[in-house]
Amino acid sequence: MRKKVTVVGAGHVGATLAQRIAETELADVVLVDVVEGVPQGKGLDLLEAGPVLGYDSNITGANSYDETAGSDIIVITAGLARKPGMSRDDLLAANGDIVKKVAQETAKRSPKAVIIVVTNPMDVMAFVVMKATGFPRERVIGMGGVLDSARFRTFIARELGVSVENTHAFVLGGHGDSMVPLPRYSTVAGIPITELMKKETIEKLVERTRNGGAEIVSLLKTGSAYYAPSAATLEMVEAILLDKKKILPCSAWLEGEYGVKGAFAGVPVKLGASGVEQVVEIRLGADEQAAFMKSVEAVRAGCEKFT
Ligand code: NAD
Repeated sequence: MRKKVTVVGAGHVGATLAQRIAETELADVVLVDVVEGVPQGKGLDLLEAGPVLGYDSNITGANSYDETAGSDIIVITAGLARKPGMSRDDLLAANGDIVKKVAQETAKRSPKAVIIVVTNPMDVMAFVVMKATGFPRERVIGMGGVLDSARFRTFIARELGVSVENTHAFVLGGHGDSMVPLPRYSTVAGIPITELMKKETIEKLVERTRNGGAEIVSLLKTGSAYYAPSAATLEMVEAILLDKKKILPCSAWLEGEYGVKGAFAGVPVKLGASGVEQVVEIRLGADEQAAFMKSVEAVRAGCEKFT
């Protein structure tokens, strides 16, 4: 029997993720959204692409949660975008309410699932999910680092004129603005980029990565990135479903690692069938540790509303 993945939020990220999962035949997909007809319509459209592309994954759309029962993975992309006149705090409260309800509805029907949180502010929403479900830390994971490192890898490859496949990038901390890139652990064919590029060039690429989300928003104007975010989420889904034990930068609940007790933060984790199977610790320099702690504090401040 094929594995089952529920994707809540059939918008840009959710529907593109459903497409990627179907095309790789990793699992059957249930797409859930509040808007009537949209998950059903997108689900049917994806199903009808199967004969042409040669996949047999089943894709179902729904406005309620019963169809999600027994899922192996739940991906939460449901949420609102910031509207004119809405403060960051208003958005935080609105998405917190949505994500809490989604987490409760899905967790009770799939009590053994691993939940991947995409909705922003992602690190805070992961906290909301863990609190709402009571799931252990292994099974609540935020997606952010894979996307940030994919952006960094893209820029490194283009700067050096090499294949993206030869690149490896290491990022820690919160997703986006407070990301902490580690250039000495970022490599091209195993060679640290600090040996391949000038410091100023690396700083320029780091800055572009940090603003990677905003760069896309300023081009699209009416939405945010979804091709790379859905690809990043797919890599996490695959690592879990295929029990790959892949080390990826994800937001995980820390219980003392990196000197942090009780907060979600972006760290390298080993992803396998049980979810987060290990938090991989590396030694940080004083500046890196300080930047990491600053990003943890920013996430903690966002979580206060939900404690
Ligand atoms: P979108 O607006 O295209 O899709 C969001 C969907 O959620 C909509 O279809 C909407 O109807 C649905 N929704 C709203 N309330 C719901 C509810 N209560 N139950 C079920 N569905 C509901 O947005 P998008 O571009 O797909 O982005 C989705 C989220 O992912 C946003 O919060 C965005 O900021 C975030 N995001 C995070 C990352 C990351 O790296 N973590 C990357 C990209 C996007």
